[in-house]
Amino acid sequence: MLYFQQNARTFGDSVALLSGNSTYTYSKLIDRSEQIAGALLLDQSDLDESPVAYMVEPGFAYVSSQWGIWLAGGIAVPVALAHPLDSIKYILQDTGAKTFICSASFTPLLSDYCQEAGVRLLIWEEMPQSDQTPLPEVHVDRGAMILYTSGTTSLPKGVLSTHHGIESQIKSLVEAWKYTANDHTLCLLPLHHIHGIINVISATLYVGGKVEFLPQFSPEEIFTRFKQGALNVFMAVPTIYFKLIAYLESLTDRERNELKTCMQAFRLMISGSAALPVSVMEKWEVLSGQRLLERYGMTEIGMAISNPYQGERRAGHVGMPLPNVQVRLVDEENGVVEGQPGEIQIKGPTVFKEYWGKVKASQEAFTEDGWFKTGDVAELADGYYRILGRNSTDIIKSGGYKLSALEIEEVLRTHPSVEDCSVVGLPDEEWGEIVAAAVVLKSHSSTDELNTFMRSKMPAYRVPRKYVFLSELPRNAMGKVTKNDLKVLFIS
Ligand code: ATP
Ligand code: MG
Repeated sequence: MLYFQQNARTFGDSVALLSGNSTYTYSKLIDRSEQIAGALLLDQSDLDESPVAYMVEPGFAYVSSQWGIWLAGGIAVPVALAHPLDSIKYILQDTGAKTFICSASFTPLLSDYCQEAGVRLLIWEEMPQSDQTPLPEVHVDRGAMILYTSGTTSLPKGVLSTHHGIESQIKSLVEAWKYTANDHTLCLLPLHHIHGIINVISATLYVGGKVEFLPQFSPEEIFTRFKQGALNVFMAVPTIYFKLIAYLESLTDRERNELKTCMQAFRLMISGSAALPVSVMEKWEVLSGQRLLERYGMTEIGMAISNPYQGERRAGHVGMPLPNVQVRLVDEENGVVEGQPGEIQIKGPTVFKEYWGKVKASQEAFTEDGWFKTGDVAELADGYYRILGRNSTDIIKSGGYKLSALEIEEVLRTHPSVEDCSVVGLPDEEWGEIVAAAVVLKSHSSTDELNTFMRSKMPAYRVPRKYVFLSELPRNAMGKVTKNDLKVLFIS
């Protein structure tokens, strides 16, 4: 029996999910999942690792669809509610999914295309009942899920993980972050990425906790839930903390203090998916009384490096390897390095199996001795890893130097007129690349003023040569700045 089915039967009448005014127990959740598995198995005894896409409301429909696909022996392919039809087509074509579970409200969007493409569309609310179907024995080494990467640097890639890989990712987090059945977590992240799926939902349900769903981001709604006093774990991406800080700053002292008291009672608050600016971490600590735990992970490896649950959570750093994760830093010239920057490489049971349908990319992603090459550069100081950025877009090679865009951004953000910024390298004949900064201002400033400021803070070779002022930075669904889009703005 797969781990989540066994766990859900054990937790029985405890509440698993809350959404809107409804609550769902573990028994109800697993019963519905088995029903869905039955509906998927009407004309076969085992889905045998065929991909099944699902696009349903966050909450009961979402988890029961995912578990239903798993119980029927299929590979779950979550599709974002916000995706336009073209992205959905890309996912269906790339995975080859021939079955698609959707909420009734999405049928007008999907039915024509599915009919044309020969994809069977099953409506979640109208699943045929077939409780009698025997469910297949699903081995843990089978493929379980194809998750698409966030598409920050190029077209999203389908990442295939096995049940064993996913359970390993969950166990590693449960051990490090001490999830318990008393946990009550707010889920507001999109449910087609690892952050929401594994860290928030799967790990909480693994130990018998509760997940409360918020379909859309809204500071008012988040703080209303906080005030109810039941939630005790919160996980979000840096842009969300950034927006919550702006909202808190707009309140009166009394309202802010009331919310601070609620937030101080939380067991844990976490940030990840992109670098957490030191200024955001510091402001959040003042406003909420919570020192954020920053961690590093990616679709291909789950979570890999994390600040400690107990012990110092160091700003600007992502901490140490999680249980069951081996980490090393590798430099192109010097091989495995210590005490200097290198590419993060990862080994262990949490690592994905392959990029779906991409044999060459899968091979190229690993070293000969089986380490996964993340493409992210970090350095290790005093036991804590510090991310310097993606080799492809954040490590700027200029005049023989390798500069970290993230480090330059941290400094630029300390200018009183800078609300937010993003630094990229632009091709340059003389220097290889030059440093350029896109800036969102909160009060008047100019290129000259920023230039003088930056020159007073760092050596000249790091100072941006070009600035562009924007009303907001281009970001994807996970709030990550899409730097390739930014570069185009400078060049055009
Ligand atoms: P794509 O691979 O499609 O370009 P993506 O890499 O953003 O998109 P994800 O797998 O969702 O897709 O994100 C993983 C990446 O997010 C990591 O490789 C890393 O660059 C970044 N990341 C995650 N956590 C952190 C963090 N705490 N600090 C800095 N970067 C982080
Ligand atoms: Mg990536």
